[in-house]
Amino acid sequence: MNSRERALRKEIVFIGKLMHDKGFVSASDGNIACRLSSRRIISTPSGKSKGLLDAKDMTVTDLNGKKISGTGKPTSELRLHLAAFKEREDIMASIHSHAPFSVACTVAGINLKKIVLPEAYMIFGKVPVTRYATPSSGESPKAALEFIKKCDAMIIDRHGTFTVGKTLTEAYMKLEKLEHFAFMMFMCSLKGRVKVLNKEQIKKIDKIRKEYGVDTRRYLP
Ligand SMILES: [Zn+2]
Repeated sequence: MNSRERALRKEIVFIGKLMHDKGFVSASDGNIACRLSSRRIISTPSGKSKGLLDAKDMTVTDLNGKKISGTGKPTSELRLHLAAFKEREDIMASIHSHAPFSVACTVAGINLKKIVLPEAYMIFGKVPVTRYATPSSGESPKAALEFIKKCDAMIIDRHGTFTVGKTLTEAYMKLEKLEHFAFMMFMCSLKGRVKVLNKEQIKKIDKIRKEYGVDTRRYLP
């Protein structure tokens, strides 16, 4: 094991604990995956709380999910991560969570495509929601692939979130931002009214984004 893999294992433990502490996962929900090399993926094992991970728990597989090393069993949701790694070579890390407000918004039928928060729009564009898919089935990767080409963050209908990044921290920050956006939308919908940004305000954000060279992929249907 080289020093990069050792560092990544520690980082996965740290991010798993953050996800758990923030309430983005319960019991053994959620998973984290990182690219070790072009065809080797390290990920959190099946059935373990993300708040109680140990660096030696991780499993290493190839891009088809075939186990290379590790004592644990690869998660059944690994297919979702592998589909993203196969689709885009720039993805180095991915996180799947069951963040509660993101899930609640889809169950309550709240329209997340409204452009409401300037910062969320700057990062995500419109927030995509995948079509419903049976968890741990081949349906989930298929539903996510419809968006992964053009965005780094999505909400999975009635299930959770999926975010990717060039680093694990980046994928985690997108998860936090996404859940924060969902929280705001959920709270505002309780009041029955959501004020959207107007065209002029959106145009200004687009301009700033261009000037700063924000390279995050955005979903703009
Ligand atoms: Zn899940």
